[in-house]
Amino acid sequence: MPEFETVIGLEVHAQLKTESKIFCSCSTRFGEAPNTNVCPVCTGMPGSLPVLNARAVEYAVKMALAVHCQVNRRSLFARKNYFYPDLPMGYQISQYDQPLAEHGWVEIPVEEGTKRIGITRIHMENDAGKLLHSDGTWSQVDLNRAGTPLIEIVSEPDLRSAAEAVAYLKSLRAILMYLGICDGNMEEGSFRCDANVSIRPRGTTGFGTRTELKNMNSFRNVERAILAEVRRQVELVEDGEAVVQETRLFDAAKGVTRSMRGKEEAHDYRYFPDPDLVPLVLDEAQIAAWKAELPELPAQRRERFVTTLGLGAADAEVLTAEKAVADYFEAALGHGVEAKKIANWVMGDVLRELNDRGVGMEACRLSPVGLAHLVAMVEAGTINASQARAVFREVFDSGEDPRAVVERHGLAQVSDDAALEAWVREVLEANPDEVARLRAGEKKLVGFFVGQVMRRSGGKANPGKVSELVARVAGEGQP
Ligand SMILES: [Zn+2]
Repeated sequence: MPEFETVIGLEVHAQLKTESKIFCSCSTRFGEAPNTNVCPVCTGMPGSLPVLNARAVEYAVKMALAVHCQVNRRSLFARKNYFYPDLPMGYQISQYDQPLAEHGWVEIPVEEGTKRIGITRIHMENDAGKLLHSDGTWSQVDLNRAGTPLIEIVSEPDLRSAAEAVAYLKSLRAILMYLGICDGNMEEGSFRCDANVSIRPRGTTGFGTRTELKNMNSFRNVERAILAEVRRQVELVEDGEAVVQETRLFDAAKGVTRSMRGKEEAHDYRYFPDPDLVPLVLDEAQIAAWKAELPELPAQRRERFVTTLGLGAADAEVLTAEKAVADYFEAALGHGVEAKKIANWVMGDVLRELNDRGVGMEACRLSPVGLAHLVAMVEAGTINASQARAVFREVFDSGEDPRAVVERHGLAQVSDDAALEAWVREVLEANPDEVARLRAGEKKLVGFFVGQVMRRSGGKANPGKVSELVARVAGEGQP
């Protein structure tokens, strides 16, 4: 049996965060009553004419520049013809043989470092409406989404595993969000992808027959769908059967892919230039101006965290993956606590709390400065690490200053030597046998005494100091 290699190419659709739709002035807001943000253009009324949204062009070009694409000075809108009830015009306005941008790349983190994934093209198009299915007897159509600007980002078939596909998606999503041009919400469909998956015997360079996977609305489902599809293809080939080119839907409940329809070829869509739209012509000066406006992107921020803050590459990777997390981390700096200590807290307790609750950074009410205060108290020995963790969970929701919580609960550690020494003496006197064993060289008993003192202090004793005191007081009177 040959060993197989997976080959994956992704087509990502990202909704652009413009106020209005791509070819009309209707609002793009999500969640409004059905068919309220519509007009003759986006409902495909005869005689209505599309007008291109300049802001959508700006956003699309900025993404193209951010992923090192060559932006074409002249691109063309084309009609992609197909019938579906959520597509009122009977065609989608897209770009075909003259797309907005081509030949880019993005770097993704892999075990050995980074890997460059090619981007074939980025083109602009309008989104379709949405079908609302009832109990199976009828369906309704909501055209609020019809005409929302999209960019489609098509990758080269450079991805070799489900994990790489997810890393690539996360990288693209991070760039879009750093640019502030897409909200990246996968559940609401503002960031979605189709995956072209095939297998081939390892060591060969040709391509196997691919299937296209749809209906994956989370990173986890993208990974599950690809793994399930690869397994299915390997089993087929090992049984001497052939993979059929088709579009398959991922069934998240069952964890399998199911055939949806035969895969269309480009000629099925009968593309032709849209006669209602002039070619999109961009001049050098405009592109240069947009390029100058690009904000710091994830890769640059990662680099800066390593060179100017002295963080390790892996830490910088985790901290910059989400813009909101990186912003939070940076805002917590400069309050007298080392960057590495803040980084550990953000990567540890903060991200753990967010993951456990399944929420984003915006759900954390504790201000970045509040976090700095909390970490500063741990560093100063005012509270210990487990107390800090409890305080953090409390202020995560309330947003209260951790210093006030420590005060209110009387959590501040006792580091006062006289008080600590009194507790240590009490504990030593109460356990003469253990003292004798400690004096005889059984050093592990220090831990036992520290535990006793911690109990006596109600958890408020500074354990480091107690440990020193135990050794000193127990050693008194010794030769
Ligand atoms: Zn409209």
